[in-house]
Amino acid sequence: MPWRDLYGNRPGQLIESHDDASRAVPPSVRQRGLRTYSRHREHVLDRDKYICQICWLPADPSAKQTDDRYPTIDHILSVAFGGDDEPDNLRTAHLWCNVMVGDAGLVNDELVRTGTRKRFS
Ligand SMILES: [Zn+2]
Repeated sequence: MPWRDLYGNRPGQLIESHDDASRAVPPSVRQRGLRTYSRHREHVLDRDKYICQICWLPADPSAKQTDDRYPTIDHILSVAFGGDDEPDNLRTAHLWCNVMVGDAGLVNDELVRTGTRKRFS
């Protein structure tokens, strides 16, 4: 019998389909709705044409993951308030803008937009 890990994946197996990708996430994480949205990343970035939906400036696909201009996926209604991981609730946002708006969405988009445009100009 071939060796499989806890989630039914063989060692070194490529994760190709969405089903496989969600199986690769531990059930405890999947239940909390964390990180499963990452499977929509390419679709959302493509749909938004890499334009940050908070400040409307383009994100930089070649930026490092720690760079302010790195394109991230933001939940429009945060998971903490019952938002889901479907593309309709996801949007492209600079790492900077995503952090500034925050998980709870306590800072409004317009405030962040003004600050970001100064920062990135
Ligand atoms: Zn932005």
